Amino acid sequence: MSDKYAVFGNPIAHSLSPLIHTFFAKTLNEDIEYGRVLVEDGGFVKAAEAFKASGGKGFNVTAPCKIDAFNFVDKLSEAAKTAGAVNTVKFTSDGVLGDNTDGVGFISDLKRLQIKLEGADVLLIGAGGAAQGILYPLVKSEAAKITVVNRTASKALSLAQKVNSDKVEAKGFDSLCGDFSVIINASSSSLFKELPPLDDSFIKKAEFVYDLAYTKEGSTVFTQKAQSLGVSSAFDGLGMLIMQAAASYEIWRGVRPDVEATITYMRSVLSSR
Ligand code: NDP
Repeated sequence: MSDKYAVFGNPIAHSLSPLIHTFFAKTLNEDIEYGRVLVEDGGFVKAAEAFKASGGKGFNVTAPCKIDAFNFVDKLSEAAKTAGAVNTVKFTSDGVLGDNTDGVGFISDLKRLQIKLEGADVLLIGAGGAAQGILYPLVKSEAAKITVVNRTASKALSLAQKVNSDKVEAKGFDSLCGDFSVIINASSSSLFKELPPLDDSFIKKAEFVYDLAYTKEGSTVFTQKAQSLGVSSAFDGLGMLIMQAAASYEIWRGVRPDVEATITYMRSVLSSR
């Protein structure tokens, strides 16, 4: 019988995780089954226990269940503790382990794309779940300074306060100043085909722009805007999605999938839709 995994969330029909993990397994010549679990409001624990009882080995967790998963597991990794959220659950004989691979997925993708963080002044747009997941890994990176900016400025402030680092400051868009060599859009603006209210002058001076949102074209309204302003290194977040999935796969099965081959495969899947 195949080892059983899944992704939990609501909505879940759109999730690319089953395609990604099935491709990982195929290229590694492993036999797994990876499904989707739609979690009803308040139904996380019941769904997780039913999955375990049915022989599930582990599962991924997406919005809005990452905090439920955090509370559900017996043991948390350091990454899960600092993110305050779990995206990878593993059932073991020692209990239920909770990890978070979003941060490592993000940093690995920046490395893959040769986005330089050493000494960088980073602008992080957004203060939701994704921004929270990547802020601590950014603080731990070689970046010199991270400025968090958010449409609702008070949320940027409380996020910055949570990490409590001299490297981090919070701003509203109207009080933003300075030059940023790396701009990360961790807001959900691109999902609505909107741009964050960031003055073009900041974008023009950036060396690298990265949007966590992803599209079949490989560009978002934000990366397109950056390119139109002369930033040639502007990337969407598909690589991060695949990197975090690869890290989950490795946690479960102890082997590292071929990330580059999966990115090529997923781009072709998305463009044929
Ligand atoms: P949340 O709903 O938790 O947070 C949304 C954030 O976006 C808030 O800070 C919100 O600001 C801001 N925002 C929304 N619309 C606009 C706008 N038009 N202009 C400026 N700011 C805006 O979402 P998540 O943090 O979970 O997700 C954010 C993005 O990250 C999404 O695009 C998601 O797809 C992507 N993502 C990608 C991953 C990957 O692996 N590539 C992994 C996880 C997320 P306010 O506080 O003012 O409402």
